[in-house]
Amino acid sequence: MADRIYNFNPGPATLPLPALKKAQEEFLDYKNTGMSIIETSHRSPEFEGVLVETQGLLKELLKIPDDYHILFLGGGASLQFAMIAMNFIPDAGSADYINTGTWSTKAIKEAGIIARYNVAATSEDKNFCYIPESFNFDPDAAYVHLTTNNTIKGTQWHEFPDTAGKPLVADMSSDIMSRTLDVSKFAMIYAGAQKNLGPSGVTVIIMQDEFAKTAREGLPTMLSYDTHIKKNSLFNTPPVFPIYMVKLVMEWIKDQGGLEKVDEINRKKADLIYDAIDGSDGYYRGTAQKKDRSIMNLTMRMQNEDLEKKFIAEAKEKGLHGLKGHRSVGGIRASMYNAFPLEGAEKLAEFMMQFKKNN
Ligand SMILES: *Cc1c(COP(=O)(O)O)cnc(C)c1O
Repeated sequence: MADRIYNFNPGPATLPLPALKKAQEEFLDYKNTGMSIIETSHRSPEFEGVLVETQGLLKELLKIPDDYHILFLGGGASLQFAMIAMNFIPDAGSADYINTGTWSTKAIKEAGIIARYNVAATSEDKNFCYIPESFNFDPDAAYVHLTTNNTIKGTQWHEFPDTAGKPLVADMSSDIMSRTLDVSKFAMIYAGAQKNLGPSGVTVIIMQDEFAKTAREGLPTMLSYDTHIKKNSLFNTPPVFPIYMVKLVMEWIKDQGGLEKVDEINRKKADLIYDAIDGSDGYYRGTAQKKDRSIMNLTMRMQNEDLEKKFIAEAKEKGLHGLKGHRSVGGIRASMYNAFPLEGAEKLAEFMMQFKKNN
């Protein structure tokens, strides 16, 4: 078997080894049932146990208040882009969107297929290298949507805007559970699991009950949040295996000491790389404005593309994989989600200094 690599892939991404091992251990015989969890009925006490425990862990770790629903749906974060607009923009109504990069842009496009929207702020003028600070909110907007971490552009919200009581809806696909968070500021949080929570195939949705009640009626059954709330994500067969994996990853986070601890380690990892960038006399250039830099996806450029190619290839030889920037922006991107080890960040920082010396 090959050694495990340092996996900087942006998603699907590296998962905690103890969670993977536990899944392996339990794979053929889940808790003495004589079958795998993926062969078990989603209506069985075993799977209901998994579902309820996963919700419990999410609630405990994120300190989710009692009046929030926790759902597990298919279709990725991308389906949420449409579902949110379908459920929450009333006839002749509109919603506010803040555009901070590729994923926000996609969310806006989907909303536009369904209803009217207003772009309350955008950082497109500078290729999304910053997080906007002034907003043109529409007083009649049904909600305000933002993307908390911009996976591709390498920026992250470190403080959230005051929406004057408007429900705040956030795509947290690439930074959920990476830091402590006041969930009560949000009417809805959603995240595809494949960055910080587990494997792809499930989207976690955290929704305040009061907001859920504002959803429109008469939508196709599967596209209505109400369906999934009423059936506790068991209206149809949910993504059983991904949910089970999310449980194992949450158990790992708990073992690490919860979000305070994970947050601290994530910052340490990011500091190592940003210090290497900032101490390189411009050899490496961070692409995001300093105060808005992401702790999860760290983006940089070098003098030219040939050098970047060489950097990525040589890093790979050293076991540092997945450093190529998104095809839409180029450059280098180090994605370091919760499960990415501190040691890997140390190795990358070391490699950056060595590479600069040699090239
Ligand atoms: C990866 C990502 C998505 C897309 O998620 P899917 O589950 O593939 O639909 C959406 N938003 C953000 C911020 C992401 O990082």
